[in-house]
Order: sequence, then structure tokens, then C-alpha cells
Amino acid sequence: MDIQNTIQKLREELNQHNHNYYVLDTPTISDFEFDLKLKQLQDLENKYPEYFDENSPSQRVGGAITKNFQTVAHEHRMYSLDNSYSKEELMDWEKRVQKVLGDVPLEYTCELKYDGASISITYENGKLKRAVTRGDGFQGDDVTNNIKTIKSIPLKIKGNFPATFDVRGEIILPFAGFEKMNQELIEIGETPYSNPRNTASGSLKLQDSAEVAKRPLDCLLYFLIGNNLPFKSQFEGLETARNWGFKVPKEAKLANSLTEVFDFIDYWDVHRHNLPYETDGVVVKVNSFQHQDELGFTAKSPRWAIAYKFKSEQVSTKLNSISYQVGRTGSITPVANLEPVQLAGTIVKRASLHNADQIEKLDIRVGDTVFVEKGGEIIPKIIAVDFIKRPENSEATKYITHCPECNTELVRSEGEANHYCPNFYGCPPQIIGRIQHYISRKAMDIEGLGGETVALLFNNGLVHNYADLYELTVEQIRPLERMAQKSAENLVNGVANSKSIPFERVLFALGIRFVGETVAKKLAKHYKSIDALRKATLMDLILVDEIGDRIAQSVLDFFENEENRIIIDRLKSFGVQFEIVEKINPNATDKLSGKIFVVSGVFEKFSRDDLKKAIEDNGGKVGSSISAKTDYVVAGDNMGPAKLDKATKLNIPIISEDDFMKLINES
Ligand code: AMP
Ligand code: ZN
Repeated sequence: MDIQNTIQKLREELNQHNHNYYVLDTPTISDFEFDLKLKQLQDLENKYPEYFDENSPSQRVGGAITKNFQTVAHEHRMYSLDNSYSKEELMDWEKRVQKVLGDVPLEYTCELKYDGASISITYENGKLKRAVTRGDGFQGDDVTNNIKTIKSIPLKIKGNFPATFDVRGEIILPFAGFEKMNQELIEIGETPYSNPRNTASGSLKLQDSAEVAKRPLDCLLYFLIGNNLPFKSQFEGLETARNWGFKVPKEAKLANSLTEVFDFIDYWDVHRHNLPYETDGVVVKVNSFQHQDELGFTAKSPRWAIAYKFKSEQVSTKLNSISYQVGRTGSITPVANLEPVQLAGTIVKRASLHNADQIEKLDIRVGDTVFVEKGGEIIPKIIAVDFIKRPENSEATKYITHCPECNTELVRSEGEANHYCPNFYGCPPQIIGRIQHYISRKAMDIEGLGGETVALLFNNGLVHNYADLYELTVEQIRPLERMAQKSAENLVNGVANSKSIPFERVLFALGIRFVGETVAKKLAKHYKSIDALRKATLMDLILVDEIGDRIAQSVLDFFENEENRIIIDRLKSFGVQFEIVEKINPNATDKLSGKIFVVSGVFEKFSRDDLKKAIEDNGGKVGSSISAKTDYVVAGDNMGPAKLDKATKLNIPIISEDDFMKLINES
């Protein structure tokens, strides 16, 4: 093929992948493959400058800028980094550096390359002023409100800092938080996120910063930029930033030679798997600012820094069989059973196959030798088949047509990736899964009952749905495997105690598809009782803040089902909460802002803790002892005589819990 054609094709391909990645947030190739293609293009463009094109994907740093957030120009451009994939390339880089600087001793800062979304945060007089995404490097989106919700980013800093400066870093989603988010999605029958990096960058563009606040994002900082910075090298900069209160990972190291840089790389190539967050390489920076100034920048990246990308770990192994799992909401997940193999420090036996399309796209067949890669996902994934090793008589995989658990014909709705078993009330893993969800910690939090016991109860014919739990007796449970008098009693008590769980959690526990914790809270708050919710029409539901058709339809379907209605009526008769019990302050306000309260005595309607929380939720402060600064004393029964005395002397109003309620409820 002629060169010009090859370049053109690569550009188009990369443009498309950039679009998939940056705009659609759904990459279709791995980063490693993308980087290789880009590198290929860059090499060709360097070799054949006559085909230069300012619109080539090699010429731009990122993707298009998303609307809705205000576009802000970066005071200091946010450059990209050149990538390298081998030690030879690093040696070449050092040669280029030495060519500019001459034969001087060089120091390098070695840092990990955190895999997240880059951010530039401006501080003015020690206060966080603005946070802007990288965008195209010249201008990005103002995401200050979202960034402020990330707890590790200081809103105010301490130390000897210049009047204004920017700090640069990476917004990341640590593995643990990512897995937790996914667990929650899986619990409500949603598709989990594909990797931490895309989830972190997607989070920055969420419109509701309260939503962002719920996400366990973090920010790792690696660079200070501005005038009059009180240091002269990158490494000092890291230490200074850390001292000012920024989260700067301690792994960074100063190296006195390329050999020491290689040691750093070799060490982290192995040990990065023990880090709580994703890294995709090492960044090597010439340490001295004076040297950096002399080296300067190319059109898109500093000459004084280079990224070394780790090879994503990959192994090949044999696919022994494919099994199909049925989830709580009936969705089917194909799982690859592999010949056990060592990968990134663990033994891998299974890999996710996602869905039928994925199997077809990669043409994965039992008996194939497949390449397995571990990214940010919980379980590794198959990225390709080694076709050369395919056995001769191999046959294309036929996706199952019937449920492996109950033999019902599977369905697949328009636009959905997964097949599902529609036999919701007769398919064992769905029944068990629903009850397991019902008893789980965030739902009814039933003590003395675990997931395995639920399966045991079901398999012994003792429960078929969550309402049955409330009719279990100690006599029925005791004879079961691993059960005894005490554990049986605990179980029955645990179930009984769940009757005091508030309505919003009951609603979540019911396991209505797409009704997660947040949606359950919204619906509970809006309708206040299950009876009102049951009567709601599609139109009513859609009018509720943040409830879309998909959720609304799912709620309607749930109540349309006679079996569900019977179960709910039974739960009601057992005393499970199906109405909101009004709390003292359902809404946070700033009505008490600036006021200092002291709480004393015993209260009738709520606990002291609730009262204190109500004060704080409404913007007030709780003081521990009465002083001239106290605005109110909220007194219950048995207020201490000394306090009463002091309050009277200082002329501080003493109010009852009812007075207090009036205070926060008046408009
Ligand atoms: P690339 O996106 O491949 O051009 O790589 C450049 C990006 O790497 C920067 O924009 C940063 O977001 C990110 N990065 C992660 N860790 C570091 C680090 N320690 N130093 C500099 N950049 C980093
Ligand atoms: Zn089934």
C-alpha cells in the first residue's frame, strides 16, 4: 500500500478511536493498541514530512470540548507527554537531552504515571480558585464545583506560597471505590462501568456535583507551575506541594543516572499491581528547572520529560469452556473458564466475556488459545484469539437460547447488550438473588442471615420470596445444615428487627430494576408511602425529579405484577415500614446559620444525637458548654441545675424541643 494511503487510514482510524474514547467514553481498543497505532502514525509523519497535516490526530492533545461547562483558557498550556515503550527509546531521549545541554551531570525525577483525568487547579492567595480540565491543552472546561467535592484536594493551603499558581494532577478512581460503585450498579441490575479511568473522567463532567461528591474520586498531584515559585527543581516542587497540603504520592524518586531510572521502572513494573490505583507507566523528568528551560518544548510536549509505558500484562491460555451466570435481575453473563495461568501476580481461572456480541466479535470458541489481559477490571478479560493455534475442527460458539437454570427461553430487548431470563418468579438464582439483595446491608440489613443461608432456606423449600422470611420459625430453621438453636434464634430475631428499617430502604430492598439507593430515596420522599407510589401513573412518575421513563416503566411493571402486590401486602401485615415517618428535619437548610446551641437534658421526641444533627443540618453549631456566645439552650427533662443557672444569668433563651421544631420549620 502506498505511504500516503497508510497515513490517511491511520489518521481516520485514530480520529474515530479518539472520538470513541474522548467524546463517547466507550473505547473499542485497548490503550496499548491505540498508543501503538499513534506511534506508527507519528513515525510515518516524521519520516515523510511532506504529508504533514495540521488536522492529524498526532497534532492534537485531546478530544473535542464538551458543552455546558464554561470554556476557560489555560494560563499555562497543558502539554502532552511523549511516550516510549523501551529502554532504548529512553536512551535515545537522553541523547537528545544531552545534545542540548552538553555533557553536564543530569538528575531525573521518576514518578508513576497515574491513569486518570488531568486537571489544572488555580490557587489565589492560598485558596482554590478554579479547576479546569485539560481539554485541548490550550483551553478546558471549568469543573470547579465538581473538583471541590474531592476531599483530598485542599480548598485552602498552608505554607509559604506565591500569590497565584496552578497545581496539576490527575483525577483518579482507586480500585476499591471503583469496585464498590460497580457492585452497587450490579445490585440494581445496571451495567457496571468498564474501567476506573473512564469513570473518573466521566465524573468530572457530571452536571450534579452532589452526584460527583458520592463518587470515591481522588486527585494525585505532580506539578506546580507559576511565577516566583520558591524552588528550582521538579523534585523540590513535589516536596513543596506536599508541604502545602497537596496529595503527592511518595513513590517519586530522584535518580542520578538513566540506570537508576531503569531500576525505578523495573521495580514498579512489578509492584504497581499492589498500588490501590491504576498506573500505566512511569514519567521521567529532567529535574533542574534551568535545564528544563534550556530544553523547552516541541509543538505538543516538553523535551525535558518522557513517559515510559508499561506493557499491559497479557498471557495466553486455553479456553476450556463457557458457562453462563444468571443474575438477580435475570441478566445472563457468559464467563470463560480458562486453563489456570499466572497473570499480574494472581492465578487466573476465569475471564469475563461480557455478552453475545463480544463472543461473536472476537470469534471466541471453546478449545481456542486466547490472550488474557488484566486492566482495571475486577476479573480479567479476553482480548483476542490466537487463530494460529485454533484446532482444525473447531466450531463457532452458539450462544445459549434457554436459561441454564430454569430452561426458559431467553429474551434480549432492543438496544440491550445482555440476554435475560424472563422467568423472574420461577428461576432459582433470580429468586435467591432477590432475597439476598433484600437482606443485604444497605437494604434491610438483616443480622444473623447471610447469602448462603438464603440459598439453604430456598433449597429446603422454606422461603420462595422475601415475605416468607417473616414467617420462619426457630423450629423450621434449627434442623438445617450448620444451624443450631442459637443461630436459628438470631435469624428469627434479625428478621423481626428489620421491621423498623425506614421506608426508603425497604423500597430499595424490594429490588425493583433500576431503583437503586438514590432513586429509592427520591421516590420515598416524593410519594411518602407505598400506596401512593402504587397509584402513580407513568406521567406522575416522570414528573418526579430525575426519574426517567426507564425507571418509571420499571416501577409500573413491578406493581402490575400480582405476585409482587401479594408479597407487599404480606410484608405490610408483618409490620414492615411502607410509609415515611417524618423526621425532625427532612431537609437541610441554613436557617440556624451563625447560631450556637447548647443541648441539655433528655428529650421526648428524639435523641440528643438527632437533635445535634438537626442543628448542624440547618447550619447551626453545637457548643459543649454555655457561654456568652451561646444563642439558645435546647432543654429537655432533667436539665442540669448548674446549666440552668448559667443560662438564666447570661440571659440566654431556654427553649423546648417543640420550640426548636418551630424554629426550623418556620419559613
Ligand atoms: P498522555 O495523555 O499520554 O499525553 O500523557 C500525559 C498525561 O499523563 C498528562 O496530561 C497527565 O494527565 C498524565 N500524568 C499522569 N501522571 C503524571 C505524572 N507523574 N507527571 C506528568 N503527567 C502525568
Ligand atoms: Zn431462568
